[in-house]
Amino acid sequence: MPLSRMWAVVKADAYGHGLQNALRAFESADGLALVEIDRAVALREMGWTKPILLMEGMFDRSDWAAVRDYRLETVVHNDEQVAILAEAGEAAIPVHLKVNSGMNRLGFSPARVRDIFHTLKAMPVVSKVSLLTHFANADNPAAVLTPARQMQRFLDCTAGLDAEISLSNSAALLLATQQLHCDWIRPGVMLYGGVPGNGAPQRYQLKPAMTLRSALIAVQDLQPGDSVGYGSLFCAHAPMRIGVVACGYADGYPRHAPTGTPILVDGVRTQLLGRVSMDMLSVDLTPVPGARIGSSVTLWGDGLPIDEVATAAGTIGYELMCAVAPRVRREVRGS
Ligand SMILES: *Cc1c(COP(=O)(O)O)cnc(C)c1O
Repeated sequence: MPLSRMWAVVKADAYGHGLQNALRAFESADGLALVEIDRAVALREMGWTKPILLMEGMFDRSDWAAVRDYRLETVVHNDEQVAILAEAGEAAIPVHLKVNSGMNRLGFSPARVRDIFHTLKAMPVVSKVSLLTHFANADNPAAVLTPARQMQRFLDCTAGLDAEISLSNSAALLLATQQLHCDWIRPGVMLYGGVPGNGAPQRYQLKPAMTLRSALIAVQDLQPGDSVGYGSLFCAHAPMRIGVVACGYADGYPRHAPTGTPILVDGVRTQLLGRVSMDMLSVDLTPVPGARIGSSVTLWGDGLPIDEVATAAGTIGYELMCAVAPRVRREVRGS
């Protein structure tokens, strides 16, 4: 099977990792894909000369100028976008026709795909028409709408159309039971070391790109009956030491993470206690008797997979990555 080319997905500020970092890390990708048009322009201004794909296409007419001037490839998923292209002036823009193969989010219904394909092909502003679709359940083998079913619909309605195809997010690449052949793939979260679904990152030997770190800024000795933090959600049953970490929901740590969510203190695995507040959270120091003010704390990343923390907090690694707040100081590894 020929190798696929890769759109490295960098939407949401490269899943919270920063576009500048993504630009360096994904130097060898064939293209970068995102949804934010101003950020696509920023990528060009930072020097990215290879293809850029707008995965939701233009949002309104005012976006056309950026597409034309910055050579952005654009998804076409609705009639409004077809109309914008039909009225557009001189340019030669590659477009990507999105097929709704069952997810019912974006895309033309299979019955309309052929027509729209030929309409786009005939437009002077369009230099090339590619095809794409998106899988809803690559991480869930029990789903009724399987990738195989979506693939069949996609192939049926595009049979005979001469076009490159892009498929497969991280879940489809890592977890799908059948090989989904195509010209281009579109991985996102796995490039940052995250695993879709409830998969184990170790299984794929993915390394976390992001580690969220802080330190202990206080230590408290509790007696039986003493409680911790707002709402006094955690109550000590025996004498114990707890640490207070300078990280809270205003840093992007999930407020709904419950007691028991894993955290590393000085590299030792322990747990969150009580309610996360805006600037602080508390940890159990029982397994780390040597911990003191200044001890390092890992909220996720090296030694603690983000997906494990996310699962404990009832969310997914994606949301945690994207939510790291601007006030968190960024350090780039190896620089
Ligand atoms: C976000 C996105 C991807 C990447 O998804 P991951 O699950 O992060 O791999 C691929 N394609 C489209 C259309 C997307 O919106």
